[in-house]
Amino acid sequence: MISHEDKTNQKTAPSLDRRGFPATDGFLVGQRDETSHGEYDPLETNLGDRFFGEKQKTGRAVKTRQTEEERKAKKKARAAAWYLANKERVCATTTAYQRANPKKVRATKAKYRKDNHEKICAQSAEYRKANAENVRAGIAAWQKNNPEKVKAIKAKWYKSHAERARAVAAAYRNNNPEKALAASKNWRKSHPKEVRARENAYRKAHPEKVAAKDANRRARKHNAGGCHTGEEVKQLLARQKCLCAVCKKSIESGYHVDHVVPLARGGSNYIRNIQLLCPTCNLRKGHKDPLIFMQSMGFLL
Ligand SMILES: [Zn+2]
Repeated sequence: MISHEDKTNQKTAPSLDRRGFPATDGFLVGQRDETSHGEYDPLETNLGDRFFGEKQKTGRAVKTRQTEEERKAKKKARAAAWYLANKERVCATTTAYQRANPKKVRATKAKYRKDNHEKICAQSAEYRKANAENVRAGIAAWQKNNPEKVKAIKAKWYKSHAERARAVAAAYRNNNPEKALAASKNWRKSHPKEVRARENAYRKAHPEKVAAKDANRRARKHNAGGCHTGEEVKQLLARQKCLCAVCKKSIESGYHVDHVVPLARGGSNYIRNIQLLCPTCNLRKGHKDPLIFMQSMGFLL
């Protein structure tokens, strides 16, 4: 018969099995130990873990496998630590590569910019917001050092945003009429060739407007009453079917606005006193009385 004291001794110094391991380790983890009076002793079962680890054929997994995320996190941490410890070496290697492969580096950067356009825009906007003054100063300095590039960029912008540019310019002229007038006079003075070219182009595109303007100017000179518009001259041309009112030759290539009763003889500047003549007839007419002129041309005899 085994006394209580003997039992205790058996526990503290377990007998070894034939493999040289403590006899209690022969039990599977979680298996009931029949020799210890059917009591479940976690300490004894854990002994097995220490000796056999995962290789032991236990009834359930001893150690849970690390998840994919954990594995990745550990790998990342190891890489970060390695980078910190070898920062200078990494920088030197990177610089050497960039110097040796400028084309590849440029291509990689361009691809990154293309693939991450929105991200880069957002980052830039954030930076500009946080460093507004620095950014403004930087831009001003660059513009001062690159006047030709600035000119080219502005020209390109005006070309692709013509309508908006015109609206902005018109708004400026409205708000600053005196400044705008002075600027316009200055520009005309320093660009005579361009001014002539523009005037010619305008005359060609809007002959009726130019003719009306000339006639109105002459009328003001003679203190004549009335005025007429380019649109009215256009309608008159259509009524005359593009023919000289006197000789009936085509005036499609050009005409003179003639006051039927000359301004010098008290004629008005209303459209009813206007006729369109070919240059020859108009020069012949001059300030003559209309009846005498028409008689001289073989009419109204
Ligand atoms: Zn004629």
